[in-house]
Amino acid sequence: MDTNRITVAYGDGIGPEIMTATIEILNAAGANLEYDVIEIGEKVYLSGNTSGISQENWHILENNKVFLKAPITTPQGGGYQSLNVAIRKTLGLYSNVRPCISYAPYVATNFPKMDLVIVRENEEDLYAGIEHQQTDEVIQCLKLVSVSGTEKIIRYAFEYAVANNRKHVTCMSKDNIMKMTDGMFHKTFDRVAKEYPSITTDHYIIDIGAAKLASDPERFDVIVTLNLYGDIISDIAADVAGSVGLGGSSNVGENFAMFEAIHGSAPDIAGKDIANPSGLINGACMMLVQIGKADIAEKIQNALLTTLEDGIHTGDIFKEGRSAQKVGTKAFTKALIERLGQTPKQFKPVQLNHDAKPIHITVSPKDQVVKKLIGVDVFLDWDESDKNPEVLGNLFKSIKSDSMELNMISNRGVVVYPNGHPSTFCTNHWRCRFTSKLRNVVPFSEILELQSHIDKANIKVIKTENLYQFDNKAAYSVSQGE
Ligand code: NAD
Repeated sequence: MDTNRITVAYGDGIGPEIMTATIEILNAAGANLEYDVIEIGEKVYLSGNTSGISQENWHILENNKVFLKAPITTPQGGGYQSLNVAIRKTLGLYSNVRPCISYAPYVATNFPKMDLVIVRENEEDLYAGIEHQQTDEVIQCLKLVSVSGTEKIIRYAFEYAVANNRKHVTCMSKDNIMKMTDGMFHKTFDRVAKEYPSITTDHYIIDIGAAKLASDPERFDVIVTLNLYGDIISDIAADVAGSVGLGGSSNVGENFAMFEAIHGSAPDIAGKDIANPSGLINGACMMLVQIGKADIAEKIQNALLTTLEDGIHTGDIFKEGRSAQKVGTKAFTKALIERLGQTPKQFKPVQLNHDAKPIHITVSPKDQVVKKLIGVDVFLDWDESDKNPEVLGNLFKSIKSDSMELNMISNRGVVVYPNGHPSTFCTNHWRCRFTSKLRNVVPFSEILELQSHIDKANIKVIKTENLYQFDNKAAYSVSQGE
């Protein structure tokens, strides 16, 4: 991605202030960039464009390939798509890298040795945003995780560790509960890890992982995780490091890249000249490395460290006694520019690899698998007879299928028929599992016929999920109690 022409968006809230600061610094440091400025975010949304970006600006993004973006405000309420998510997915920016580093003793933190990087999967998981209300009580959000997307982000995390001289990669998932989606993520991590024997690894269940990140972040080096967990833990890590105002973030794919701050548009402090521009400056430095200007990134990061150790601090990190001067965004920018060319005396100076190449990932070819349809889960909206599962189970006795039989009914994932517990609370959202009577392949036409019988019995079908075996192994979750 060697380029001098980048796309820039000034964003919303504190966006214009911190982007102005960042561009001034890039120019003063000799980055020698040309900027195509595009309008995105709140103004575009409120003008009636629910995507938050015009078609013309999409073309500019695609032509320039590299995007430096200030935070934007997504108006609350329905009807607006998240532009951040749309850009990441449309441009294939599968990896979100968020370094969270302590600037102790100049920025207050309980963890002076904290120096970790979160590598977050950026396109999949619950961020597909596919949601449906299925009964008047129950709403569904689909969690979609692909084998190739998972392998890509895990390989990226290991390659990032190698390229940046990091020694340990931790995987975080919730595979004790989501045994198939998160289970596949964990297994892929274990498989890929074997190819990197010089890097040590471990795995944390995300809840204890997040707790350890808050109470003992110095134990972590690189963390790789799924999209939602990564979003949450990177805010925790940035805050624990000292301030959400300090962290930068890259969103990188094979052909495009976007760089930003970790934080949002901070409307509470917008227009007051008090925002810390360091997060976006750090994001811009990640961009400079990506486009082959690591020397300029090094110069800016050393000037940033020098400014911080000189005690010139914005309000979010200012501490009486520790800081020398409380400054606004503009004065902080001026102080940093004055220090370009200096190296810090207390902090270890930043030394980047000037020959670093962008990371390219190739995923393993897919194995041939034999996929067999062996049954179906039929989801129902059924509200009758005090939601008594025995009544529903008995109704199915009159519903005939030549090749399939009812195995069980579950409610919110717990088996309630046969042999349910009377104390289990039931909603009006039921899953009825039918499999082949002879334990062999079921023709799809039988599934359609079964649905038609259920419909004729006046039971409302919400949807079906086919049950498959891959290489003779059941590829669906069993219910609690099944
Ligand atoms: P936020 O990150 O904007 O603010 C959280 C808190 O941190 C606020 O108190 C804020 O004043 C403070 N803060 C944030 N950045 C700071 C900085 N640079 N200097 C000093 N203090 C700073 O989170 P939020 O309030 O939850 O979200 C506000 C808006 O930002 C929402 O519309 C949200 O959708 C959007 N958002 C955008 C992005 C993005 O564009 N990438 C990311 C997150 C949130």
